[in-house]
Amino acid sequence: MKPLALFGGTFDPVHLGHLSVAWEAAELLDAEVRLMPANVPPHRPAPLASAEQRIAMLHAALQRQSRLSMDTRELRRNGPSYTYDTLSELRAEQGDRPLILLLGADAFAGLPSWHRWRELFDVAHLGVLSRPGVGAVLPSGLQTEVATRRVDDVALLQTLPAGKVIELAVTPLEISATRIRELLASGRDPRYLLPCGLFDDPALLAPYRTHGSIAL
Ligand code: ATP
Repeated sequence: MKPLALFGGTFDPVHLGHLSVAWEAAELLDAEVRLMPANVPPHRPAPLASAEQRIAMLHAALQRQSRLSMDTRELRRNGPSYTYDTLSELRAEQGDRPLILLLGADAFAGLPSWHRWRELFDVAHLGVLSRPGVGAVLPSGLQTEVATRRVDDVALLQTLPAGKVIELAVTPLEISATRIRELLASGRDPRYLLPCGLFDDPALLAPYRTHGSIAL
């Protein structure tokens, strides 16, 4: 069975950086990849768009392709989305199928602030996606934890259910949701940073368009 990879995030909004790295990860790992919007991220400010709005954007973004899908389980659960709980639930559902948590390099460096982070390796592998502007220096606790877990060979990940860390050298795209929110708030139109489906319905980007006029 193909590995199942989960790419969590706020997706406020989903952008081409997310989609492109998720797509490349699906190819590199020969995995099914699900984008998994988070409910109330315990370590982040609340998103501008509601859960329903973020689902609608992801739905529009994922049209006309077959490798990437969406998993909304964290939005259906009340309270904060702890990745450990979500992956444990998926582990119970999926038996011994390899599970891979995909993280951008910035999110990976912040892993030690996550709930039960060391136990994540009991339930999943980690796939670290390169991201421009993120240095290679890791906090020492994380460095130690992953030292013995690192692998280069995708085939190893495909034969084990959990416990390894692999770096995935994806094409660097310097796109962030923060930048897109800033552009939209100042009346700009970041057309080619976002999936074209987000422009089909004006309601989709309305949460971010707080400025009426075009700023040049
Ligand atoms: P924000 O700017 O609001 O912090 P973001 O663009 O980082 O948002 P998130 O939804 O927070 O997007 O990110 C979800 C996941 O996607 C994280 O693991 C993050 O590291 C990763 N990610 C986001 N953008 C990129 C990118 N351009 N390249 C690689 N990984 C990315």
